[in-house]
Amino acid sequence: MLQGKAAVVTGGTRGIGYAIVKSFLENGASVALWGSRQETVDKALESLRQENPDWPVIGMAPDLGKYEEIEKALTEVKNTFGKLDIMVNNAGISARDTLYDYKTEDFDRIMDLNVNSVFRCSKAAAVLMKEQGGGVILNTSSMVSLYGQPAGVGYPASKFALNGLTKSMARELGKDHIRVNAVAPGVIHTDMVEAIPSEMIEPIIKGIPLGRMGEPEDIANAFLFLASDMASYITGAVLSVDGAAMT
Ligand code: NAD
Repeated sequence: MLQGKAAVVTGGTRGIGYAIVKSFLENGASVALWGSRQETVDKALESLRQENPDWPVIGMAPDLGKYEEIEKALTEVKNTFGKLDIMVNNAGISARDTLYDYKTEDFDRIMDLNVNSVFRCSKAAAVLMKEQGGGVILNTSSMVSLYGQPAGVGYPASKFALNGLTKSMARELGKDHIRVNAVAPGVIHTDMVEAIPSEMIEPIIKGIPLGRMGEPEDIANAFLFLASDMASYITGAVLSVDGAAMT
């Protein structure tokens, strides 16, 4: 589905991002996997190479807080693969403190990665995509971007903002043949969910109509579809992949 395409996936070292990287590689893309630390990037690369030593995958750890570093890393990706077709903004963090305990620096940290860095990466990617005649930007949102959640205000606030960024970029960049979409996962079996206390997560899982948590591959399948030409008329969408769960 992605033969000949070149992609970047942020937060690609584990969880949902890693599943997206693997699915893109299995479907013919060349992929640059980005993570926050070189050690975790190298570990992810090693495990992908064990699966298939011929996969065209490189790893990098640019600081997503710095526009110039992102620009430099994207230029390196373009020089390596000859182009940049797909930018997946997947890296994200959360905190679940109540409003009374929530530290302003935690709120800022979450907004900076979950929203500001998506703006930075999308802007730098769009410049390259416009030059080459088009591309696809995909963002990992969350089901809490639709309903909010009863604790941890920064995370849903960041994902509401991400949906706004997605829809607005889609409207602005359509003329440059750049599609922009988001996937809003429900409760997905990754380290992020493992970190939530079981007394909080179990009632949520019980309430999921499909009767189970999602797996990272369930989300990767939606990214694969939206990245592919099968979704060539889809832009500005926030696709829920949540088993009809509600927080
Ligand atoms: P995870 O914690 O397993 O992975 C997070 C990824 O983000 C890692 O690769 C990590 O290296 C990267 N990352 C963290 N901080 C970073 C930083 N400062 N700079 C660069 N990279 C950084 O989480 P996950 O569950 O796979 O989450 C991936 C995305 O999915 C996030 O945007 C998250 O908000 C979203 N999401 C997850 C769930 C879920 O249930 N797991 C549900 C909805 C949305």
